[in-house]
Amino acid sequence: MASLILILGDQLTHNLPVLENATKTKDTVLMAEVREEATYVKHHKKKIVFLFSAMRHFAKALKEDNFNVSYIEYNDETNQGSLLEQVKHALAHGEYDSVKVTSPGEYRLLKSMQQWEQTLGVPVCIINDSRFLASPQEFSDWANDRKQLRMEFFYREMRRKHGILMEDKNPIGGKWNYDSQNREPMPAGTNVPTHTQFKIDAITQDVIDLVENEFGDHFGDISPFHFAVTRDDALTVLNDFIEERLPHFGQYQDAMVEGKPWLYHSHIAFYLNCGLLSPKEAISAAESAYYAGTAPLNSVEGFIRQILGWREFVRGFYWHFMPGLKSDNYFNNDRSLPDFFWDGQTNMNCMRQCIKETQANAYAHHIQRLMVLGNFCLLTGLSPDEVQQWYLLVYADAYEWVELPNVAGMILYSDGGQLASKPYVASGSYINKMSNYCKNCGYQVSKKTGPKACPFNYLYWHFIDKHKEKLSGNPRMAMMYKTYGRMKDENIDAMKDSATLFLTKLSKNEEV
Ligand code: SF4
Repeated sequence: MASLILILGDQLTHNLPVLENATKTKDTVLMAEVREEATYVKHHKKKIVFLFSAMRHFAKALKEDNFNVSYIEYNDETNQGSLLEQVKHALAHGEYDSVKVTSPGEYRLLKSMQQWEQTLGVPVCIINDSRFLASPQEFSDWANDRKQLRMEFFYREMRRKHGILMEDKNPIGGKWNYDSQNREPMPAGTNVPTHTQFKIDAITQDVIDLVENEFGDHFGDISPFHFAVTRDDALTVLNDFIEERLPHFGQYQDAMVEGKPWLYHSHIAFYLNCGLLSPKEAISAAESAYYAGTAPLNSVEGFIRQILGWREFVRGFYWHFMPGLKSDNYFNNDRSLPDFFWDGQTNMNCMRQCIKETQANAYAHHIQRLMVLGNFCLLTGLSPDEVQQWYLLVYADAYEWVELPNVAGMILYSDGGQLASKPYVASGSYINKMSNYCKNCGYQVSKKTGPKACPFNYLYWHFIDKHKEKLSGNPRMAMMYKTYGRMKDENIDAMKDSATLFLTKLSKNEEV
């Protein structure tokens, strides 16, 4: 008898156990562009083009490798609209004695799949996802032994376990972390190598036409579309990064430059998170560059920490804290997302640039996401639910397992500090130091209060003031509360007045 093997849109990996153990002459691989998954949030149009095109290319490669593939396009008459109905339909039209699927990345889908066996009446084997370097169980075992969960310590364990950048039992270079060398602003006129781009082929063009017709009311621009949609092209992106940009990645990883969204970043999260690249090969490529002497340790360690440390940590964190993580709201924030998050129409140049780039590219780098957009969301008390939805739909690399811990834990501190040791908030001076945005802004970063003052300045102190009961005991906030304690009452009142005025306008969706 034969198995029906379901491959999801973020499982585009040829060496998944469900594929390696398949009997090509008997089993069928089912892939489907189902409405439920494409629309449960209104994903960025470019994200849908990317994933549908990557799925179609992956199915084509499987067929060329002699797999039986049943690929259901979005507008096929046989498209049932949901994964469960699609599997039911396949079982009704074929002779299968089991369904096999790699464990999905999303809690909602896993819970649903765990009920499938009862509904379908055949065994449903949900197989562990082998593509990560730590399993959810491994993370939970580590977490259950600790009072505080900090990525840095998990990362060190992962370095030791996998022998990455290690010299016997010690980290190469004598330090685990070189972040202090990785906070430089980009000098004006720096000539950053162009990011890797690919031409649109016939498959991608078909998908673009489909998305234009069917998803016209979704956020974001389709053109220009230059993402990789095959494994070979994704490997080219990785190799180009290692050769051309990794050497300077570390030093400029927190820098932001107006009109330059791609900078020295790797842009491989799109491909890691849908399975076209594996984390192990990305780590190994960067480590090899260090040993070959073509990239410095601060860049290599910083890049590897994002994958081996942060990516694995947030994935373990997600499974450990779901489903509660989704509804956490430590500060009881409930302000609606302002309209300008959808069109970038604001006088704050930093926000305008980051939103416009997100709209154009379905991409912004981590400091734009954390210290501009996220900083604003936290300082203005936006609803965690609405912010989470926004981050999930606007970025082409966003899936709930990676987006939710980043937003709930790192950006909004809505988990009350289970993930981050302090809220990541900053005034305008941080944005001014790390970018050139303030030069073209309708506000003045040097002003603290009043109509021309940078909103991040008074919103920052308003946040510190508003949440003093919850935060002043946090040792990592001690400096801020010490400075706050030295502020004159009249300055605190002026800052509160400016913040109240701004937040009132924000709630009314007036221009800010
Ligand atoms: Fe952003 Fe303030 Fe700078 Fe304007 S002045 S770009 S609002 S940080």
